[in-house]
Amino acid sequence: MSYECLCGEIIDQDFPVEYEFDRDDAVFRSIVEGEVLRLECPHCGAVHRLEEESLFRSRDRSLVLKLLPEHFRDQVRAGNYPPDPEITRLVVGYPELVEKVLLWRDGFDDRIIEYLKYGFYIRNTAKLTLTYAGVENGKLEFWVREPDTDKVGRTRVPLEAYREASGHLEEILSRPRLRAYLQAPRVFVGDGPWFDPSS
Ligand SMILES: [Zn+2]
Repeated sequence: MSYECLCGEIIDQDFPVEYEFDRDDAVFRSIVEGEVLRLECPHCGAVHRLEEESLFRSRDRSLVLKLLPEHFRDQVRAGNYPPDPEITRLVVGYPELVEKVLLWRDGFDDRIIEYLKYGFYIRNTAKLTLTYAGVENGKLEFWVREPDTDKVGRTRVPLEAYREASGHLEEILSRPRLRAYLQAPRVFVGDGPWFDPSS
C-alpha cells in the first residue's frame, strides 16, 4: 500500500492485517510498545501511526480483537458496525488495542474494568479518560488523560473494588445503561454521553 507523508514522500509498505498477539513475547511487546502498524518516513523521519483495520487474535481464540481506525468512532458508538461472530471485542484506535491486550495478559475482565471507569467518570465532571496501565502494590493503575490539554496523570483503584464488582457482574450487566457500554463486542465506556454537559 502507498502512504503519503506530510513532507510529500510516498512510502510503499504493506502491513499484515492479522496477528496472533500472544504468539510469543516479542510479538506481544511489539504491539504494546507501538511497533505494529508504525511507519517511519525515510525522507523526514516522521513517525506515522497507521490505523488499518486489523485482527488481533489470542492463540486460544478466546479474545479476537478488531482494530478500527479512529474515524469509525461515531459509527461504532451509534452501534452501526456490522456484527461478526468471530470478533469478541471491537476497539477504535491503537490505545484501546493496547489496553485490551494488557488486561487480557493480566487476567482481568475488561467489563469490570470499564465498570470501574464508569464510576470514576460519573464522579468527575472534567473530561478525563482512564486507560489501564497495570497493577502495582495491590492496586489497579490507570493513566488519566485530559484530552484538551494532553495532561497525563495516574490514578489507582484498590483491587478490592475489582473483586467486589466481580461478585455482582450479572447485576451490573442487567442495568440498561451499563449494559449498553459493557456488551460485547464493544466493551468501552469512554465515549459516554456524560462527557456532554447538555445530555
Ligand atoms: Zn516525511
